[in-house]
Amino acid sequence: MKNKSRRQFVKTIAAAGAGVLAAPLVSAKTAVAAKFRGRRDRDMGMLYDATMCIGCRSCEVACKQANRKPTEYDADGIWDAPKDLSAKTLTLVKLYKDDTAQSFVKRQCMHCVDPACVSGCPTSAMVKQPNGAVTWNADACVGCRYCQMGCPFNIPKYEFDSAYGRIVKCELCANNGYLEKGFTACSKACPTGAILFGRQKELLRTAKERIRDNPGRYVEKIYGEWDSGGTGVLYLASVPFERLGFPELPEYSSARISEGIQHTIYQHMIAPILIYFGLAFVAFRNTRSAHKQKED
Ligand code: SF4
Ligand code: SF4
Ligand code: SF4
Repeated sequence: MKNKSRRQFVKTIAAAGAGVLAAPLVSAKTAVAAKFRGRRDRDMGMLYDATMCIGCRSCEVACKQANRKPTEYDADGIWDAPKDLSAKTLTLVKLYKDDTAQSFVKRQCMHCVDPACVSGCPTSAMVKQPNGAVTWNADACVGCRYCQMGCPFNIPKYEFDSAYGRIVKCELCANNGYLEKGFTACSKACPTGAILFGRQKELLRTAKERIRDNPGRYVEKIYGEWDSGGTGVLYLASVPFERLGFPELPEYSSARISEGIQHTIYQHMIAPILIYFGLAFVAFRNTRSAHKQKED
């Protein structure tokens, strides 16, 4: 190899190495900056009081209309009868019943305070908005479905029956124009006031007052106050939440674990240093072998 071309080669390797080092440095900065958000004053959410729900499913119908989702017919093709959340059903009211108790329960995205779907998404297609809603950006999504795997509530669904499948979940009506009008389609449609829409901190105050003022009516817990780091949709019920299908989760978001691992790797520069030395070794070996061939 002539001196000039060798110099050029060394420059190229140095530039590539600097690039490899620089990229993780940016990521390291981002990871360090990814502080946990916590519940904020401006965060909007919903309080669902299962003791006030009569199971009329007006909320389901309103949600389908607001989000232009089709009905899911039963086996006879007559009733709109979804069995669970799906790419066509963003909210669902179920009935729990045993020998001693029964309760309706509405399910949809919980709009977590520190959402694992957002932290797991490699392209930032899942976004925690300043108003507390967790939304999805079709333009950024690559369809990897990490958000589905990360969600502790099994909420995001994927349109498997479409050639251009999309991730589908409740976006707190931020995607359909309702939220900016000051309500959600489901809260507006509810005839009994079982779904309250408002600021999360005010909803928490209301929930605590209801428990205090109605001894014996509720289990002594607001689901979502702390669960999984807190959620934007809060629940009151007369039946223990584990029986209503809510997972028992720690008081910190699982996003904290995944970001903690990422943070540790980048903080000590383990991954970028290994990549850099690996590339440098391959480049050195290839150069030496090319040089030797030329000499031979
Ligand atoms: S419930 Fe799941 S999809 Fe909804 S914000 Fe939380 S982690 Fe994301
Ligand atoms: S907030 Fe909007 S999208 Fe979410 S369940 Fe209610 S109506 Fe459906
Ligand atoms: S509209 Fe209200 S009362 Fe009717 S099922 Fe939904 S939450 Fe329950």
